[in-house]
Amino acid sequence: MKKYNFNAGPSILPREVIENTAKQILDFNGSGLSLMEISHRAKDFQPVVDESVALIKELLNVPEGYSVIFLGGGASLQFMQVPCNFLIKKAAYLNTGVWAKKAQKEAQFYGEVVEVASSADANYTFIPKGFIVPADADYLHITTNNTIYGTEIRKDLDVSVPLIADMSSDIFSRPIDVSKYDCIYAGAQKNLAMAGVTVIIVKDDKLGRAPRKIPTMLDYRTHVEKGSMFNTPPVVPIYSALENLRWIKRNGGVEAMDKRAHQRAELLYAEIDRNRLFEGTVKEEDRSLMNVCFVMSKEYAELEKDFLAFATEKGMVGIKGHRSVGGFRASCYNAMTLEGVEALVTCMKEFENRI
Ligand SMILES: *Cc1c(COP(=O)(O)O)cnc(C)c1O
Repeated sequence: MKKYNFNAGPSILPREVIENTAKQILDFNGSGLSLMEISHRAKDFQPVVDESVALIKELLNVPEGYSVIFLGGGASLQFMQVPCNFLIKKAAYLNTGVWAKKAQKEAQFYGEVVEVASSADANYTFIPKGFIVPADADYLHITTNNTIYGTEIRKDLDVSVPLIADMSSDIFSRPIDVSKYDCIYAGAQKNLAMAGVTVIIVKDDKLGRAPRKIPTMLDYRTHVEKGSMFNTPPVVPIYSALENLRWIKRNGGVEAMDKRAHQRAELLYAEIDRNRLFEGTVKEEDRSLMNVCFVMSKEYAELEKDFLAFATEKGMVGIKGHRSVGGFRASCYNAMTLEGVEALVTCMKEFENRI
């Protein structure tokens, strides 16, 4: 039976990305060696990094003066690496979920942290608006897509200080104005590649200003200067990112990804709103196009397990909600097809007809 992968992360990738990466793992560029057993300094591997960086710059329209680097450690390492490199005196954080809160916590090791707003009291069911960012903050940190709660800031905010964004779960799903950001980072395993690599886009002239000694590995300048080759980078994950970046380009770039994201999410939210058995969990205007969270309506709460079993039997994978929200979460990253969402919607309709 066909499986539809709605996992939140690591998550769905286009089949051809997986197949092409698998081929290179068996025989890299016809060398007779595996991608897993060559040096990252082999002359064949450098073009992989170069093309990946060039595609990221092209797809996101990255202006001059920014560098793109690949690091290990996940987005979670960035929670501390960002303030270590960018926090001079004071940083502002928008608390929109567990990941946002974790980032905020790490910044406290490096200076004053101002929480400009929080929706924690409402279990992060909305994105706070109208908050005031201190004019003397070095940056405002935001989490553009809250993977666990299903809210999203799907635009580049206009604020008086530079933005720094965790875009782990919605990068490459829409065009962005990189010039508004001093730094953008994303763990690859949600919407870009297999787990193991983090993409960081940094504004070069903002580096080296923090008033502290930064250990070599944690200093972005080390990796910018060495083109992500200061130490051994995650070779296979970077290769899988390259395949996916090529796939995004072939399929119309981030503008097309944005359109697909709208089509998928609108179809699914429409069914959640129509179907008497289900309801959405977050404020409509803040609904994420990437992670669609919903629960059984109160009257039908006892049917949660039954629906999960029913949907699983029909091939839906990974739709159980995160434990802090409950219910269901259908993650609809770039590689999810409209057909996949249609299959889930059909499931919801069929289940309704049985009740
Ligand atoms: C998954 C996730 C993280 C954590 O990523 P790791 O790579 O596991 O450290 C951070 N931020 C967001 C928005 C996420 O979705």
